[in-house]
Amino acid sequence: MDVVEHFADRYSEAREKFLDAARDNAADLVEHHPHPGVGPAGEALATEVARFGPADAPNVLVIGSGTHGIEGFCGSGCQVALMRDEVVVRPPSGVAVLLVHAHNPHGFAWGRRVTEEGVDLNRNFIDFAQPLPANPGYGAIHGWLVPPRWAGPERDAAEAAIQAHIAEHGFAAWQQALTGGQHTHPDGLFFGGTAPTWSRRTLERILHDHVGHAKRVGFIDLHTGLGPTGYGEPIFPGGPDDPAHARARAWYGAAVTCPADGSSTSATVHGTLYEGFRRALPEAEITPIALEYGTVPIADMLLALRGDHWVHQYVDMTHPPCQELKARMRAAFYVETDAWKRAVVDRCVEVVGWALAALR
Ligand SMILES: [Zn+2]
Repeated sequence: MDVVEHFADRYSEAREKFLDAARDNAADLVEHHPHPGVGPAGEALATEVARFGPADAPNVLVIGSGTHGIEGFCGSGCQVALMRDEVVVRPPSGVAVLLVHAHNPHGFAWGRRVTEEGVDLNRNFIDFAQPLPANPGYGAIHGWLVPPRWAGPERDAAEAAIQAHIAEHGFAAWQQALTGGQHTHPDGLFFGGTAPTWSRRTLERILHDHVGHAKRVGFIDLHTGLGPTGYGEPIFPGGPDDPAHARARAWYGAAVTCPADGSSTSATVHGTLYEGFRRALPEAEITPIALEYGTVPIADMLLALRGDHWVHQYVDMTHPPCQELKARMRAAFYVETDAWKRAVVDRCVEVVGWALAALR
C-alpha cells in the first residue's frame, strides 16, 4: 500500500484507519476513551490506544498524535504507517509500543489546535496547586491578536501595532511572548488553562494504566507547524541540563534541539506533556521528544492561528470567509501533497527505529 493512503481527510476517517490498522495487525490491546463532545458533523470523538508487545514490558515506547488537534492529520497518518509497515507491530523483546491516537480529539475534528476548553494541551500539564507561570509579554500583545473585525481599520491598526512591536523587540521575543503559554486570557492564544483538561486527565489515566510499571519510557509526540517544510525536528522539551537531554541526543543524534538553550524553532514552554509524564511516572527513566514537522513559514502559521481564533470567537463557521480562514488553518498544520506525506512518514520510521534500538 502506498503510504499516502494512510492519511485521512477528516478526523472520523483517521480514527477508522487507526483502528483498522490496529485490528489488521493484531494489536495486543485496543482501548477507547470516549470524549463527552461531538465533532462538527455530530460524529463521536475519542482518544484511542493500541499496544503492540506485552502488557508488562519493562521498556515502553509511547507514540502520540493530535496533542494539538489539527496536527493529528500528520500524526495519525504516521501512526497508521508505522502499524502497516510493521515497524512497531513486532517490537524487540522486552519492549512494548503504545500508540495513542488523538490526544485532543475535539481539536482534531474541529480543525483547531486547542481543546474544547480553548486550551493548548502542551501548556496544560502544570501543577495547578502552585502559582501559575507568568508571561507578562503576552498581556502586552493580546489586544492585537484577534480584533473583533478581521478586515478594516481595526485589523489594520492591530497589524501595524504588531509590526512595530516586532521591529522594537525582535521576532524571537514576539514568538516567546505569543507562543510560550499564558494562563491569564482564556479567549487568547496558547492558553494553558486554569485546571486539567479532559485530554490531560485521559492521558494521565492511560499512562497510569499502561505505562506505570515501566522502567524505561521513550515518548515521541508528533507535531506540525514549525521549521522547514517536511523536515521532522526532534525537540527535547525539558531543560538543557536534564539528564534526559543527553539521553535524547544519544538516541536521536546531534539534530536534537532544545528550546531552553535557543537551538530550536520552538519557544520555551511550560506545562508540556513531558511534565505530565514525569508526574505520572516518577520512577521511570523517561526520554521524550516532540517530532516537529515543518509546514509553512512561521508568520503564516501564526496568522492562520489568529484567524482560527477569530472564526470561533466572533462568527459562524459556515460563513464563507470563515471557510477560507479554516482552509488556511488546515494548510498551516497539514501539507496535503504526496511528497510531504512520504517525507514525514520516512522520517517517523527512521526516528522510531532509533528509539526501538535504544530501548531494546
Ligand atoms: Zn504541536
